[in-house]
Amino acid sequence: MTKKTAEQAFVRERNLSSVLRLIHTQSPISRAQLAVITGLNKSTISSLVDELLMRNLVHETGSNSGATGRPATWLEINPQAGLIIGVELGVDFVSVAVTDLMGNILWRRREDTNPAEDQNKIIEQTLQVVKEAICVNKKKGSRFFGIGVSMPGVVDLKEGVLIFAPNLDWRNVPFKKIFSESTKLNTFIENDANAAAFAEHLFGTARENQDFIFVFAGVGIGSGLFLNGHLYRGMNGYAGEIGHSPIMDESSPTVCHCGNRGCWETYANQQSIIQRVQTRLEANNHTSIIPKLIAEQRQQLSISIIKQAADLGDEEAIESITEVGHAMGKGFAGLINIFNPEKIILGGPLSVIGEYLLPAIKETIAHHSFLPKIDQRVEVELSSFGPDASLVGAVAIVADDVFAKPMSI
Ligand SMILES: [Zn+2]
Repeated sequence: MTKKTAEQAFVRERNLSSVLRLIHTQSPISRAQLAVITGLNKSTISSLVDELLMRNLVHETGSNSGATGRPATWLEINPQAGLIIGVELGVDFVSVAVTDLMGNILWRRREDTNPAEDQNKIIEQTLQVVKEAICVNKKKGSRFFGIGVSMPGVVDLKEGVLIFAPNLDWRNVPFKKIFSESTKLNTFIENDANAAAFAEHLFGTARENQDFIFVFAGVGIGSGLFLNGHLYRGMNGYAGEIGHSPIMDESSPTVCHCGNRGCWETYANQQSIIQRVQTRLEANNHTSIIPKLIAEQRQQLSISIIKQAADLGDEEAIESITEVGHAMGKGFAGLINIFNPEKIILGGPLSVIGEYLLPAIKETIAHHSFLPKIDQRVEVELSSFGPDASLVGAVAIVADDVFAKPMSI
């Protein structure tokens, strides 16, 4: 390829990507509207749209034939353009989903994993579920765009290597190599909170936002910082590891997974809620329904049991969650003061009790706000995907690659 042809191909792909992204965010949209927004002439837009139609990435969805003038045909992303496999590697579980190009889940499986087990065994267990996902879904005859894997740690995106996952104590795991060699599919990896932020931006509640923070709360607390329209990663990719901010009392009895005391997440993660409920039950278990739920379901105390109790109006459950909501709110107030975001989105496993956490979080933000009038404008809301945000995020990083490089599909 000559230099000139290479440049032309580059410009063509960049224009195709811009048009595809506009069709994704603004659909239904007409060719004429695309020409106005992009500033490209109508014949160039027609040619670009024809190529996207030919590649089956978009489709026509009818026209405004009732309007005056020449009828415009609406364009939309074709969700059936291909399939994406999303993998969420949690600390004690793995979830695998197969979705269409718009992130709609068509097939899914979740398995518990044992974090004490050898990492190779957990990776092998994950690969088996992925292979089943491929096998079951390839009968549908559609192509696979790739595999996205979200994980609780710092990642090297380019090399596809998990650098360090503190809550698993895994280091330097070459996920991209392992998954792409085993499945023959292109594999992308991302930190779980960053992936979740991406899911909200591509498919969820933050489609219109350029400055927002996704707080992922579960075993630990991480965040995806979406600033000026892009994920902010920092110098080494550690940006957003807010759970280890030493903002709480250093005389804390709880040692964090990172080895320090006083980390924010030890006051606001799922173990903190469970411990608070346990302490309350030891002091007074006469009125709480929790011991009965544990006995009936033959389970250990868990967030699921605590939610069931809260739904039944159990005071010990609701007050424990409220305490944690206040601890979360302190961290949120810090984020608001530093970043002045439009929105903070709470997701991850703890979002299942979000309806009980949010009022306490908002109350604390109001108390700790540096700039009250600005803080009141910050929206604090639950993830569009609940506990599935990182799973859908794993899918979103693959979809984003399709939108970025439509000629390579
Ligand atoms: Zn820590």
